Amino acid sequence: MPDICVLPGDGVGVEVMREAVETLKLLNKTHNLRLEFEQALVGGAAYDATGAPLPEDTLKLAKQADAVLLGAVGGTKWESLPYEVRPERALLGLRKELDLYANLRPAKVFEPLLDVSALREEVLRGADLIVVRELVGGLYFGTPRGVVMESDGVKRGINTLTYSEPEIQRIARVAFKLAEKRRKLVHSVDKANVLETMELWRVTVTQMAEEYPRVALRHMYVDNCAMQLIRDPRQFDVILTDNLFGDILSDEAAMVTGSIGMLPSASLSDTSGLYEPVHGSAPDIAGKNIANPIATILSAAMMLRYSFNREDAAATIEAAVMRVLESGARTADIARKKENVIGTREMGERIRAAISGR
Ligand code: NAD
Repeated sequence: MPDICVLPGDGVGVEVMREAVETLKLLNKTHNLRLEFEQALVGGAAYDATGAPLPEDTLKLAKQADAVLLGAVGGTKWESLPYEVRPERALLGLRKELDLYANLRPAKVFEPLLDVSALREEVLRGADLIVVRELVGGLYFGTPRGVVMESDGVKRGINTLTYSEPEIQRIARVAFKLAEKRRKLVHSVDKANVLETMELWRVTVTQMAEEYPRVALRHMYVDNCAMQLIRDPRQFDVILTDNLFGDILSDEAAMVTGSIGMLPSASLSDTSGLYEPVHGSAPDIAGKNIANPIATILSAAMMLRYSFNREDAAATIEAAVMRVLESGARTADIARKKENVIGTREMGERIRAAISGR
């Protein structure tokens, strides 16, 4: 029986996670999933209880589980803590310890929400892309790093952009395999015109493409990609990129959906997966039953698809979300008028009702 490690975390993480887990429990009945859930502390909640944002017990549970479902971590209460025990450290710890090297962030336009995005409808209609971001290497982890004092008394900040060939190969493989199941197009995004590491990136991705003859590969510089995402997001299917560029481009791509409350994500290793909404703990709206639970519910759908190969159950969740949006139900972040606004719990209940065919 698949074991799910449930880490609600802080702020709205707790509220949205409740809706995702209840939805999965319903699917246990309707789709015979037989998922079992074990919950643990992470982030600020874990720090308050144990003095560590990622306690040993939590890490052990996450490592043993077949998949991890995470809400969000952080909040104003913990902002003045030393960097090593900040709630957000738990995320980096989980990524590194579970070797979650591939971050997948789909950005798909929901037809009923076309008017919510900052972009024009004719630019958006039909946009459906996924950003594949390398997550445990590159500039965020490269050494040497730090701030040093030079002999003349001037401080110098140092970070290192480094990728080995195998690191590039494994993330490229994820992107090509994903593209094979989609529209068979990969845009590899780099800055090979300026950076040697990115030159290696481009050469390696080009070599990898030979193993996937059904997938078309295009290379794009990151500055151009940032522009093209806004100009014509429909040209993209799979965007393959490194840790730094992926961080920025996936947030930009997110805007095609209109709200951060709609965006799921998956972080995969060769043996495990962590699924979480893109948003944070949203301290400004926490505890008010107004957060949008759809990003977390869609993350649960990604878990069923990528960790358990249950496309049927994943598609059921996604279809239910679409039906509820078509019915006009909206949480505050995706509402243009006040009349149809419902809360976190109500949105979860409507989605479950749609799954049950009610
Ligand atoms: P945030 O994503 O928490 O919030 C940004 C804005 O989006 C806020 O206005 C918030 O109200 C809104 N928002 C977020 N989720 C929403 C939802 N589900 N429904 C409706 N509106 C939503 O980002 P932030 O304000 O920069 O960070 C707040 C805290 O979260 C910080 O401590 C930060 O470090 C942390 N954080 C955690 C994660 C994570 O756990 N993966 C990611 C980003 C930020």
